[in-house]
Amino acid sequence: MVCSYCNIAPSEGYFKSYCKPCADLRRMLILHEPKKCVEILQFCLLRNNTQVDNKKKLVVEKNLQDSLNLYERPNTRNNPKK
Ligand SMILES: [Zn+2]
Repeated sequence: MVCSYCNIAPSEGYFKSYCKPCADLRRMLILHEPKKCVEILQFCLLRNNTQVDNKKKLVVEKNLQDSLNLYERPNTRNNPKK
């Protein structure tokens, strides 16, 4: 049987309706009230174009900073060996 939540993966067992990830997801989602779960998922998973642009800028800046930090300046009189 196919999982009745995602309709992709096979269900955990013959008498079970959901695959393992969907069953885990459902178990985790019932820990909080549905409204709170929707707010959290919207905040974490759904982004508008402005938020996507901000995220891209953050990632690009981080990659740039990382690449700058990897560069070791050569030892000179102005940059003596530490
Ligand atoms: Zn599933």
